[in-house]
Amino acid sequence: MQHWMAFQDPAKVKGQRLQRAVLVRVWGYVKGYRWAIVGFLATVVTGSLVALANPFIVKSLLNDAIPDGDRAKVNVLAGLLLAAAVVGGLLSLLGRWWSAKIGEGLIFDLRTQLYDHIQRMPLAFFTNSQTGSLTSRLSSDVVGAQRAVTGTLGSAVDQIVTVLTTITAMVVLDWRLTLLSLVVLPFFLAGSKRVGRRMRELTRESMGYNAAMSAQMTERFEVSGAQLVTLFGRQADEKRTFDERAGKVRDIGVRTAIYTRAFFLALNIVGTIGVAAVYWYGSQLVVGGELRIGDLVAMGLLVNRVYDPLIALTNLRVDVLTAFVSFERVFEVLDAPNPIVDAPGAVALTDPRGELQFDHVEFTYPAAASTTLASLVDGLVLSRQSAPVLHDVTFTARAGQLIALVGPSGAGKSTIASLLPRLYDVNGGAIRLDGRDVREITLDSLRGAIGVVSQDPYLFHDTVAKNLRYARPGATDQELERAARLARIHDVINALPEGYDTVVGDRGYRLSGGEKQRLAIARMLLKDPCVVILDEATSHLDSENEAAIQAALEDALAGRTAVVIAHRLSTITNADQILVIDGGRVVERGRHEELLAAGGLYADLYHTLVRDETSGSLPA
Ligand code: ATP
Repeated sequence: MQHWMAFQDPAKVKGQRLQRAVLVRVWGYVKGYRWAIVGFLATVVTGSLVALANPFIVKSLLNDAIPDGDRAKVNVLAGLLLAAAVVGGLLSLLGRWWSAKIGEGLIFDLRTQLYDHIQRMPLAFFTNSQTGSLTSRLSSDVVGAQRAVTGTLGSAVDQIVTVLTTITAMVVLDWRLTLLSLVVLPFFLAGSKRVGRRMRELTRESMGYNAAMSAQMTERFEVSGAQLVTLFGRQADEKRTFDERAGKVRDIGVRTAIYTRAFFLALNIVGTIGVAAVYWYGSQLVVGGELRIGDLVAMGLLVNRVYDPLIALTNLRVDVLTAFVSFERVFEVLDAPNPIVDAPGAVALTDPRGELQFDHVEFTYPAAASTTLASLVDGLVLSRQSAPVLHDVTFTARAGQLIALVGPSGAGKSTIASLLPRLYDVNGGAIRLDGRDVREITLDSLRGAIGVVSQDPYLFHDTVAKNLRYARPGATDQELERAARLARIHDVINALPEGYDTVVGDRGYRLSGGEKQRLAIARMLLKDPCVVILDEATSHLDSENEAAIQAALEDALAGRTAVVIAHRLSTITNADQILVIDGGRVVERGRHEELLAAGGLYADLYHTLVRDETSGSLPA
């Protein structure tokens, strides 16, 4: 009775019906496996028939072979018993092979399709969705969908075939005993339904306790979480909370264990009552000469086979509906619209020069509600409205120019930078690269032409070499080294314990902020884009790092158009054009001397920077 172990919750699927559209779509996935399904069905039916051989062989043994004293027949029948068992075993193996092929194939299809769909979603989708919810779609829901097909439907087919063949065989043997054996069924069901309901409550409760316990572990064992606990010296409190949660898991574990055992005992007892009734009445018939003893024993064996699948089938509706919920959850993500895709007729940039133009750009961050699915944020309320962030931003950068964006925090500098590679699309106006609207350029070639170096660049938990090659998988060792030298990071890498093979990233060797940014510059150099977007680190670097970055940038930006969110004096004073951003608008523009002379917002910002830089940096 393993199917009862899942204890599906009818409340979850109450009032639901299988929707035709979902079924049709599921069929779309399943139909690729139709031959495997035919194989599976054939195996199940044959297996059921072979299993029926057993009672009939026993019957023949008791009715004919033994009374006739026919030793040869006894030998043959015993041999047949063995053969039926072996063939039955092989068939069940074959059936499992078919269903595993279908099930695992289906998981593979859904999972790879989902992964690809999700990874192509716009950035807003990720900022607004919970990573945990997303990964669970790829793991548990995909597995749930597979269970819908091979587990629920597969075992339902198996059960129906078993019930039909067994009851037919029983009727053939003796219809009175068949009726008697089925009369106990309602009592059977009433009892087990009650326990089943209680079991489901326990399962749900225990899932809640387990989730609370895991949440504490995941959060506290993350590097930053662990640091917070340590710095605030809260270990004792954390232990107390954890003990309490783990204690609940323990207690409910004990209750569930006893309940499960009691449940199976109860089912067994009712089952035994049915079997006993058949033997009791059957024996009377045998004594009265109305039934042969072989028929009675065969009947007893068949009765044992029929109860399990009958009970499982009474729960079929709930099982199937629950399993299909997983399909719907997978489809929901697959259907999440992706607004940032190649436009029809988009052209690939060939040999881009890097001329940039922002033409009256207006931008509002898309509302969370429109970028993700409510089911991916676990009950958080999604914002629907968001205030406009950029107004009428217009500027031009000729190929090879350096544009510095300066302005107070929250002014919109990062937003301007993120629009160029189409992390978001503008709401008004246009952004052009080499005179062509970025929305009319293929995403691949657009992003291939743009290199981004962020303030706190992300490194995968992998070797330095692999992290660098992410920009150009085919790069040779010499090319890596050349880029690293240009970015002034080669010596640092060489000094690492295993050089270019040192594992870096959050869980590996931790590079300093300045080193990470130079590594990101090397990565960008390998990509060799014609436009560079650079978000300079705000933190003060020591003079050695500062000089290294300065030198690295001079080489890295040479010959490329650069949009730099500038925090360093040297970048600003070298810029071909400075855009002063405030409140999402370009409020001043020009070269350093002109802006300084004008004495506006730029002059204020500049003086603050000068003060910070002279007081903050160490003597060279
Ligand atoms: P800083 O120098 O502090 O990084 P910034 O000039 O780069 O600031 P932006 O990050 O572009 O400023 O932010 C501009 C405005 O847009 C801010 O008011 C910010 O709150 C808002 N904003 C930024 N990101 C989002 C987002 N994903 N969704 C909604 N609003 C956002």
